[in-house]
Amino acid sequence: MDTGELASRAFQLPSEVVEICNLAKRIVRDELLPLEPTFLPHPGHAFGLKETLSLKAVFGDEVLERLTNIAHETGLWHLLVPEQFGGSGLSTLARVAILEEFYYTAVPFPFANVPNILYECRGNQIDRFLKPVIEGTKTTSFAQTEPNAGSDPGGMMQTRAVKDGKHWVINGTKMWISMAAECDIIMVQAVTDPDKRQKGGITMFLVDRHNPGVRVEEPGIKTWLGPRAAQYTVHFDDCRVPEEDVLGDVGKGFQLGQRWLTLHDRLLRGPYALGKMRRALDMSVSWAKQRRTFGKQLAERQAIQWKVVDMYIDLQALQALTYQTAARADAGEDIRTEAGMVKLVAMDWGARCVDHAIQIHGAMGESLELPLTLFYRYLRHGQIGGGANEIQRMQIARKLLRD
Ligand SMILES: Cc1cc2nc3c(=O)[nH]c(=O)nc-3n(C[C@H](O)[C@H](O)[C@H](O)COP(=O)(O)OP(=O)(O)OC[C@H]3O[C@@H](n4cnc5c(N)ncnc54)[C@H](O)[C@@H]3O)c2cc1C
Repeated sequence: MDTGELASRAFQLPSEVVEICNLAKRIVRDELLPLEPTFLPHPGHAFGLKETLSLKAVFGDEVLERLTNIAHETGLWHLLVPEQFGGSGLSTLARVAILEEFYYTAVPFPFANVPNILYECRGNQIDRFLKPVIEGTKTTSFAQTEPNAGSDPGGMMQTRAVKDGKHWVINGTKMWISMAAECDIIMVQAVTDPDKRQKGGITMFLVDRHNPGVRVEEPGIKTWLGPRAAQYTVHFDDCRVPEEDVLGDVGKGFQLGQRWLTLHDRLLRGPYALGKMRRALDMSVSWAKQRRTFGKQLAERQAIQWKVVDMYIDLQALQALTYQTAARADAGEDIRTEAGMVKLVAMDWGARCVDHAIQIHGAMGESLELPLTLFYRYLRHGQIGGGANEIQRMQIARKLLRD
C-alpha cells in the first residue's frame, strides 16, 4: 500500500500539484532516503537547524551542492517564495502537499526557508536582509521566548528597546533561541512601550548576529531532540540597532510574531507531521507482514491491525484538516485559530501514531537505525514548542466562547 497515493487522491489535488508531489516523492526515494542511514546516527544534525546547515554538517559540501542544484533545477528552492521574488506562485495548499512529501524522511531537503514576515522588509532592508535569505547566503533566527516569558510573551516580556537618537538600544535576555549561534540575522522582539505591550508596545528588530551588543551563550542548551544543541540563550547588552532596522512598524512586532507562528509553527506543522505519519504507517505495515510470532504474521493479530487502522484514521483526518485550512488561507480567510488546531492535532496524533509504530516494531522500534524515535521526539516536542497545546486550546476556546 502507498499511503501517500491514497491520501492525496482522497483530496483531489490539481494535476499540476500532483505532478510536483510525484517529483518530490522521487527525490525523497532516490536522493534522501539512501542518505538516512548515515544521517540518523551522525552527531552533526540538530532540531531547529536550517536544512542546508544540517546537510553540510553531516554530508559535507558535495552532497549539499548536489541537492541544492536539484532544488534550483526543479524550482523547488523557491517553493515558499512569493512570485514577485522569483517564487513558484503555488497556492498554500500546493505547498503543504509538496512539503508533506519531503517530511517523509529525516534527511532535510534544501530550499529557501524564508520566514514569511521577512517579506515586510522595506527600502534597503530588501537587499541587506531579504534577498540574501532567499538566496541562501544568510540565515535567520526568531527570538521571542525569555527565561520568564514562554507561553505569555506579550504579558511577561522583559527585553526593552529604548530610542537614543537614530538608534534603538536593546537590553534583555532571550532563551531557547533556535540557531542563534549559527544564524546571521536575529529577528528579536522587544518592548518599546511598556503601557501598551502586545497592543502596540512590542517591536521587531532585525539584528546582525555579530553586533557587539549581542552575546550568544555557548554551548547551547542540550535537549533530547538530537545529538547536537541548536537552542541558545542570547544576551542583548546595550545593543545598538539603527532605526531603519525595525521590521514592519514600531509597536507592531507582536502581531508580526503571531504571523510567523501562524504559518511556520502552526499550519506547516501539518505537513511536517503527515510526512512522518505516512512513513511510520508504511514501515508498520511492511514490518507487520514480515515479522512472525507464535506461528503467524503480526499482521494477522487484531491488536496490531487496530493500531495500524488507528494510525491510518489519524493520518486521513489530519490531512483533511490541514488541506482544508490551507485552502481557507488561499481564500483569504483569517486562519489563526484553525492553524492552531492543525498544530495541536498534528503534534498529538503524530506522536501517538509514531508511538504505535515503535510498539509494532518491538525492540527494532527503539533502534536509532530507524527514524521512529527521532520522529517521535520531534512530534512530542511540538506539543510544547511554538505555543504549547494548552495555549492552542485557550485560543480555540476564546474563539468558540467569545460571544
Ligand atoms: C527545542 C526548542 C526550540 C525552541 N525554539 C525557539 C525559538 O527559536 N524562538 C523562540 O522564541 N522560542 C523557542 N522555543 C521556546 C518555546 O516556544 C517555548 O518553550 C514554549 O512557547 C513554551 O514556553 P515555556 O517553556 O516557557 O512554558 P511555560 O509558559 O512555562 O508553560 C509551562 C506549561 O504550562 C502550560 N501553561 C501555561 N500557561 C497555561 C494556562 N494559562 N493554562 C494552562 N496551561 C498553561 C504550558 O502549555 C506548558 O505546558 C523553543 C523551545 C524548544 C524546547
